[in-house]
Amino acid sequence: MKYAIDLHIHTCLSPCADDDMTPNNIVNMSRIKGLDIIAITDHNAAGNCAAVLEAAGGSGLLVVPGMELCTADEIHLLCYFPDTDTAIGFQEQVFRNLLPVKNREDVFARQVYMNSFDEETGTEDRFLIGACMISTQDAILMARSMGGAVLPAHVDRESFSMLQTFGFIPEEYGFKYLECSKDCNLDSFLQEREDLGHRGFIRSSDAHRLQDILERESWLELEEKSVGCLLDKINGIR
Ligand SMILES: [Zn+2]
Ligand SMILES: [Zn+2]
Repeated sequence: MKYAIDLHIHTCLSPCADDDMTPNNIVNMSRIKGLDIIAITDHNAAGNCAAVLEAAGGSGLLVVPGMELCTADEIHLLCYFPDTDTAIGFQEQVFRNLLPVKNREDVFARQVYMNSFDEETGTEDRFLIGACMISTQDAILMARSMGGAVLPAHVDRESFSMLQTFGFIPEEYGFKYLECSKDCNLDSFLQEREDLGHRGFIRSSDAHRLQDILERESWLELEEKSVGCLLDKINGIR
């Protein structure tokens, strides 16, 4: 069956996201827009995933715990995990490899943790947007070894894109899918990049504002609506 997806959404834990990207606002907007599956992908962090999963409980919306990791090569990787505990386990490794830079709320923005009632439970001191010290290759291996799946983020963009940084998508990484951004004209993009045509593309919003969350416009065929099925699909197992 085909499901309407948006697998790249930031919460208020990302300093560049709006304050109203709260768990319940994201769940409610995704439901209004008619989505079946969303993923939470904050910069270098997964601490709000559990709250969004809980907020979505019983609604029929499937929420995938994830993270948008910025690797040492300054490439953004979307990492998806089977459950929130695994996502937090991955986050522990990432936090150990972040440069010791503190967030400055006066310069950047607050990085807010929330519970499933949209109540603030704390703020993150580490500055989450910078590159961590984990190489792209190691990050991919680490996420997959924990049962996760990885997508190179927004490969059609100029910044933080594997395609721009490396100039190509290394075959040895085994990617079956790549992410393209919300406004990417895939046909004309692929005319210029014929080398990518054998891969599938997953279009997501990279929403930092509620209104940017996708409508029913990006689809993925899955045997069933489950996190396991989605991870297998991205990993090319089914
Ligand atoms: Zn990004
Ligand atoms: Zn993003």
